[in-house]
Amino acid sequence: MSSSLATVERTPPRALRWPRPLAFDASVGLHLCAGAAAWALPGAELWALGTVAFNHAVLTAAGLLPRSALLGPNLRRLPEAGWTGGGAGASAPAPPGRVALTFDDGPDPEVTPQVLDQLDAAGARATFFCIADRARRHAALTREIVARGHNVQNHSSSHRHHFSLLGPRGFEREIGRAQALVADLTGVAPHCFRAPAGLRNPLLDPVLHRLDLHLVSWTRRGFDTADGHAPRVLARLLRDLASRDILLLHDGHARRGASGRPVVLEVLPALLERLRAAGLATTTLSEAVPRRAAGSVA
Ligand SMILES: [Zn+2]
Repeated sequence: MSSSLATVERTPPRALRWPRPLAFDASVGLHLCAGAAAWALPGAELWALGTVAFNHAVLTAAGLLPRSALLGPNLRRLPEAGWTGGGAGASAPAPPGRVALTFDDGPDPEVTPQVLDQLDAAGARATFFCIADRARRHAALTREIVARGHNVQNHSSSHRHHFSLLGPRGFEREIGRAQALVADLTGVAPHCFRAPAGLRNPLLDPVLHRLDLHLVSWTRRGFDTADGHAPRVLARLLRDLASRDILLLHDGHARRGASGRPVVLEVLPALLERLRAAGLATTTLSEAVPRRAAGSVA
């Protein structure tokens, strides 16, 4: 990919106003009320303190639930036609009968090439939420993902275990650096972000807004980094399977089954066959999710 194309597609994000989530305004209001009550009403200090503590507990719990939308927009399924996600343009009509396969934590020099081969064999396309430091170490493999018709998105620079405890500057560093790395490697800047382990805090949403990134979680996940039993992983992914589902598997940190083989490689062919039998095709997030800023459309 030419450097000029990379330059075009890394157009700086527009400074649109951050659409504050309802939970943000409610929390600010609650803090003001608690402060006023503690100041004006004798004996109300404990009540005020308890209210603020409860508020923080609710926000923390929301950040620990990867599919929660309390802290800001969170794509758990592919959007329907007309969805703009806060951007300037409406999405193209959603193709019927499509699901998105997403693979996290790669690229992995052993597993990812085999995942690509299995996808090719089924004529399927997928989205890879790569860890940018790994993508840089395996640059040729990262480019191959894109060259074979798939999509690379942002899963942070280093997948820190304490990612959800970062503040705005830490988020900017982890996510902004990954944006630049992936854009340099593939020529296309990501427009979707998935938090490590899906965990976050209320300070993440304004950073994603500034960087023109959609937060994407999933409809269902296979827990294939924790469970090496392929039939169980497959059953989790297939439960209530429907059009517009976003399914989560891993090509990095893949758990191995009893045979010693990464479980994702045992699950994927069966999953692709079940999708075919159900009349569902695959799509990538670059196709199914519009970019936020009209000026940076690839
Ligand atoms: Zn991850």
